[in-house]
Amino acid sequence: MKEEIRKILLEGGACAVGFAKAAEVDPGEWELFEEWLSRGRHAGMEYMRNHPQIRRDPRLLLEGANSIISIAFNYRGDTAPNSPVASYALGDDYHDVLRDLLNRCLNSFPTDAGYRICIDSAPILERYWARKAGVGFIGDNGALIVPGAGSMVFLAEIVTTLPLVPDREWIRRCGSCGACRRACPTGALTFSGNSIDCNRCLSYLTIEHRGDWNDPVHIEALSSAATRGMTPLFGCDRCLAVCPHNAGKVRARTVPALAPRKEILAITPSDILSMEKSDFSATFRHSPIKRGRFDGLHRNALNMIK
Ligand code: SF4
Ligand code: SF4
Repeated sequence: MKEEIRKILLEGGACAVGFAKAAEVDPGEWELFEEWLSRGRHAGMEYMRNHPQIRRDPRLLLEGANSIISIAFNYRGDTAPNSPVASYALGDDYHDVLRDLLNRCLNSFPTDAGYRICIDSAPILERYWARKAGVGFIGDNGALIVPGAGSMVFLAEIVTTLPLVPDREWIRRCGSCGACRRACPTGALTFSGNSIDCNRCLSYLTIEHRGDWNDPVHIEALSSAATRGMTPLFGCDRCLAVCPHNAGKVRARTVPALAPRKEILAITPSDILSMEKSDFSATFRHSPIKRGRFDGLHRNALNMIK
């Protein structure tokens, strides 16, 4: 049954599928997560502190949960677009696209059971579960690396009551590469472990951060990035773009709705600055960019032209 489920998901557009036993997160991994929080490296994303019991034990997400199916979908195309918007955000909103896709896959699963789809919609350590399920390993840039498909992937999970035989977990690490640490324009990756300091990360600062950038750490990080020619409109791909696992022949995107939208590829800071709120809502309907909000995109666009 497990292989039948894997086949359905791969034929549906996934680039990798793995299975893990639903259980508490390993104590060592949980400690690392708590330490990351206690050092404030989650910056303003206080929601990362919510529901610690569920995050630690995903069996609480579904009564009778026995297994976690981890699924990766590649959003990388054959060529890297030249855009001030992070690649993952150039297409339709992956939350909607992948939920519809997974719901269709569930209808073809060989048996009825309890299923819960999670796509950033539940407190779950998704890269940890992807590693446990044998989908890939976690790189020094914090991203999940799927061997043969790279790290430009979206992750989703299906928590299920089905008792499926687990796949072998990945224990591989990056070794001495260090390309992402050297390429990061803000020093967000200079800490030990797979630990990003979001206070210094352009993805956090241009997407998740609300309000002006007043904190001296934010100002210093943005200024350091600007001197290296990086003033993004939405997110940052630098530590993914330099990763050797994304170079050369890797499996490219197979879900058409994740392909870049022409109007988003063409967007400029002037376009953003000339928008009213209603234009923003219309342009970024069904786009991940709406998460940055009108005020946030306006702030980012001003930073690009100053
Ligand atoms: S997304 Fe950009 S700023 Fe953030 S860690 Fe990667 S390279 Fe650094
Ligand atoms: S760039 Fe190198 S160190 Fe960084 S995630 Fe990729 S393989 Fe690992």
